[in-house]
Amino acid sequence: MVCKVCHEKDTFVNCFDCGIPLCSDCVKTDLYGTGCGCIGAIYMCRDCFKEWIPAGVPVDSYNPF
Ligand SMILES: [Zn+2]
Ligand SMILES: [Zn+2]
Repeated sequence: MVCKVCHEKDTFVNCFDCGIPLCSDCVKTDLYGTGCGCIGAIYMCRDCFKEWIPAGVPVDSYNPF
């Protein structure tokens, strides 16, 4: 599978929300807490990520790490 965003690189992961294939360059990542002290990673495409992060935060400047 080839990344659905850039159509150049091989798929690294699928978007957790809409499921489209993404390469390591086009994927956006964030961390979430489960409430029990565990932390998981999420991988999303740009569009889904925009819905995920707080309103008004630019996608490119958001850095969970
Ligand atoms: Zn890509
Ligand atoms: Zn998506």
